[in-house]
Amino acid sequence: MIKEVKKILKKSMQLIASIFGRHKWPFLKGQLLIIGYHRILPLNDPEYKKMQPGMRVEPDTLEMHIQILKKYFEIIDLNEWVERVKAGKPVPKKACALTFDDGWADNYEYAFPVLKKENVPATIFLVSSMIGTAQKFWPERVTDILIQLKSKKYSIIGKEYLKWLTDLGLTEKKISNLDENMIDGFINQLKMLPDDKIYKILETLNENKNIELEVTENEPAHILNLLQIKEMMRSGLVSFASHTQQHLRLTMVESEKGLEHEIVQSKAVLESMLENKITGFCYPNGDFDDRSLSFVTATYDYACTTKKGWNSTKSNLSLLNRVLVHNDISNTPSAFESRVSNLL
Ligand SMILES: [Zn+2]
Repeated sequence: MIKEVKKILKKSMQLIASIFGRHKWPFLKGQLLIIGYHRILPLNDPEYKKMQPGMRVEPDTLEMHIQILKKYFEIIDLNEWVERVKAGKPVPKKACALTFDDGWADNYEYAFPVLKKENVPATIFLVSSMIGTAQKFWPERVTDILIQLKSKKYSIIGKEYLKWLTDLGLTEKKISNLDENMIDGFINQLKMLPDDKIYKILETLNENKNIELEVTENEPAHILNLLQIKEMMRSGLVSFASHTQQHLRLTMVESEKGLEHEIVQSKAVLESMLENKITGFCYPNGDFDDRSLSFVTATYDYACTTKKGWNSTKSNLSLLNRVLVHNDISNTPSAFESRVSNLL
């Protein structure tokens, strides 16, 4: 009963926010809304269910979003908006930029056709060391392990790792009842460890060779390759920017050398691979501190965070706000508009 009431209340709030939200205010000037996506996957793709809910949007939902955004905003290439601001040139009253994090191959397969159909620009943030490889991000690998454990394949991991999981609260009983939310919670819990430590644990597991941690031959590649990137570049619709070399959370990178490698060198690597200038950056997991911010400010024209909100011509270009969306919270027009309105 309470659940039902809450649901109705949420729907009414969404409706109010979609009707009176900021995106409909007529008197705004120099505003920039940046939408943040990750994976674009149809519901029937086997990858869909394996991804954390916060990571995925269906192609039809993306198309619906773009059609709504076109009504209230001028959809603009993020780099162009930044260039205009830096040069003191006029910008649209309400601009919107579309961004996609991590460089997933599904951005080419499912988002690119929608962008072409709607003829709107977008920016993809690439992890330079992963382009064209069969690598998986650690949350995907952890999901793979948990799914295999759920089907009682305990032999895939040694006793010490089973203990490690138990210490983190994942008992055998919990694993047998594992669902999407528990996997999501576990991944978020693991974020207390630095990425390199997690990768090290996973690599040791990989030495057993009982477990699939990379994309296998029968699976399509998860990460964009250079051919796909170049084709999108040639369309003139998609531009690319940096999301570090290895997707390390920068607040957990201890040495200056490590920060330089992730922030500064990823620009050089991408520029030589893409034969194009790279001017933008996106903080993995949205994490930054004074040290990473100063490297970013010295290297790039702009950078995106995961802090929720809009931007204006007066915003700090190295700390741009975004509105991140995923399917569950944006699959109806009023849910999407209320998210965009920044009232909820
Ligand atoms: Zn990312």
